[in-house]
Amino acid sequence: MSSLAQEERRSISENVKWGVRKKYEEGTYRIPYGNLMGYTRAEDGGLKIVEEEAETVRLIFRMFLNGSTYTAIKNHLESHGIKTKFGRDKWDRNVIKQMLMNEKYKGDLILQKIYTPDFITKKQVKNKGAIPSYYVTNPHQGIISAEDFDKVQKMIAERKYRYGKERLGCNTPFPFSHRVQCATCKSWYTRSVATRYTKKKVPGWICWKNKYDSGQRCPSHRVPEAVLEQEFVNALNELLEDKQSILDEWADKFDQTYNTEKLQAKADRIQARMEKIAEKAEKLIEANPSYFNEAYTELLEEYEKLEKDHAKLAARIRDTEYEGDRMRNYLELLQKLDHVDDFDGDLVRAMVDKVMVYKNRSLEFYFVGKRRINRRPEQK
Ligand SMILES: [Zn+2]
Repeated sequence: MSSLAQEERRSISENVKWGVRKKYEEGTYRIPYGNLMGYTRAEDGGLKIVEEEAETVRLIFRMFLNGSTYTAIKNHLESHGIKTKFGRDKWDRNVIKQMLMNEKYKGDLILQKIYTPDFITKKQVKNKGAIPSYYVTNPHQGIISAEDFDKVQKMIAERKYRYGKERLGCNTPFPFSHRVQCATCKSWYTRSVATRYTKKKVPGWICWKNKYDSGQRCPSHRVPEAVLEQEFVNALNELLEDKQSILDEWADKFDQTYNTEKLQAKADRIQARMEKIAEKAEKLIEANPSYFNEAYTELLEEYEKLEKDHAKLAARIRDTEYEGDRMRNYLELLQKLDHVDDFDGDLVRAMVDKVMVYKNRSLEFYFVGKRRINRRPEQK
């Protein structure tokens, strides 16, 4: 390509971008705000905070940061008579989750979610992505600080890591919550204070299907909390005897395991392709508005597919970064510790993914990085 042609292409691209920005400034791009709790449209077409609603947004983020589940937040809002954006009494867990992930709350915003091709028709068309999304930092006032927002994104990634996609469990005050699993039926163990057979109050852990499911009661046994705690200390000390080999192993493979550069480069390539398609779409409309329904739709579909791929990659990058942070923290603890005498719940949270309880009463501790230690508590 001649440099003149290149120059021409570059200038077309610049013009398209400039045009898009200008339309945004003129308020011809409709940012969907109708269902966004905490904001209303300002005179200039941007977003303006509605203080009463913003309070609800802050409450939801605060509760989540304090470890509440989506369901607990939903129940709290409903029992306190706090209404949704549309004035409804019932809240949806997914709406709460989407709010927690909405980047608009930290003052950022993706432009052009809805695009008005006003040179063709006045009818508003939802922009399914044919126009590139320019990520703009701070075009309006945030409700949540960037630090809190980022912390929440990490916590969402953590829940996904620990419970899988479908398990939206909670951070309870007990380090063994959602960590102790029944090998017989795969349910989680839950805390119970009284035993079924004696009146003594001895805190312990029991399979959820043993405790609550009277139809098909799981035949697993109850583990006294003191035994779990003691066996964790024993398992950790066993692990620490071998700590140098773990540290050496991870010194070699940490970078290649948790490096996100390749994923990031892939995401950037997809982003670049999306922008190319968007430019093509714009040129198509400007050159001949009648193409709008044919070739344009094709480009739109391609763009949508790329957008989905991009979102998947972004989630993978976040998850990998979370797992890397957790591994780094785990290795630092290994480095620091030599022998542990007393139980410490924070060590369980930082170092143990789960504890499997087997029929033969043995406990298997799954440490971060898949290292397992099996313990057989002494019978009393
Ligand atoms: Zn069970």
